Amino acid sequence: MDVRRWTFDVCSISANTAPPAVSFRRSLLAWYRQHGRDFPWRHTRDPYAILVSELMLQQTQVAAVIPYYREWMRRFPDFAALAAASEREVLHAWQGLGYYARARNFRAAAQIVMEKHRGNFPRSADVIRELPGIGRYTANAVATFAFNQSLPIVEANIARLLARLLDLRIPIDTSAGRDALWTEAAALVPTREAATYNSALMDLGALVCGSRPKCGVCPVKRFCRTKKPSTLPIRKARQPLKSCTEHHGFVVRRRRVLLEQSQDRWRGMWMLPRLATPPALHQPLHVSEFPFTNHRITLAVYSDHNVAGKRNATQRWFPIRNLGSLPLPSPHRRALNQILTATRQIAS
Ligand code: SF4
Repeated sequence: MDVRRWTFDVCSISANTAPPAVSFRRSLLAWYRQHGRDFPWRHTRDPYAILVSELMLQQTQVAAVIPYYREWMRRFPDFAALAAASEREVLHAWQGLGYYARARNFRAAAQIVMEKHRGNFPRSADVIRELPGIGRYTANAVATFAFNQSLPIVEANIARLLARLLDLRIPIDTSAGRDALWTEAAALVPTREAATYNSALMDLGALVCGSRPKCGVCPVKRFCRTKKPSTLPIRKARQPLKSCTEHHGFVVRRRRVLLEQSQDRWRGMWMLPRLATPPALHQPLHVSEFPFTNHRITLAVYSDHNVAGKRNATQRWFPIRNLGSLPLPSPHRRALNQILTATRQIAS
């Protein structure tokens, strides 16, 4: 494996030859000027707006993020607005994006920016990384896109592209694989215009060097070492998904529905009350599946009036007309919408 050869070549070439890194960047940037993607967060240098986009893009497709991004910026246009918002408002705005710890951490980070940094977002990636929920990738991404700092970034598209350019034959989700990618990314990043360069690298990974690489139109083909791009990147064998079923109750009284505030997976959000066991001899009103980390969860919802008799402190009645303003995890919102629609149709 010759992970470091490219890096070595780049560092050892005399100034008057065309170093691979310089030619590589030139080819990449010429392509980007013609084919780069246009996103709302690429029209700003505001670190807050860039942080919003970076946090939303983790685990979520870019097309799905754009409407969330616009709405978030309308509701919470800066760190001050986010820091002053309630957890309920923040979770409500985030619902549908999943991984709600990101939203809670973001609100906590906004409060730290307002209190500790007096509203001024830090410029140093090391200081940015001290904020809750922000790792190396996000800190470097904000520092490079907002402040044009010469810092490497490695996200999924760049990791795939670099693994193929280097013909990296170790899993990229091991510490050795991650180190190789970050080392190479650091060796290639230019000292000037790093923001444009990093955007270009990301776009090439997304548009050309995707899961079906388009090597015939690739602007950096001559730098690419792999002969078998579709076999890369290598990842560790995945643990098989575990299946489980979660039982919840649905009960309506006087146009109000009973909900329970989650204390764990969706902490702070409202969901249908949990049932320890499904009610005997009942067919579920709703069955659906959703993924969560390495689980495939079946959500089964039953009409169960007994649940109201065993109310606990985490449960409350909510008028049906107000459900739209409550933070509900997507699987439970879908279940409620489907059951309420079916109930209305039966009643009409
Ligand atoms: S030549 Fe193919 S595999 Fe190599 S970087 Fe370009 S698209 Fe990816």
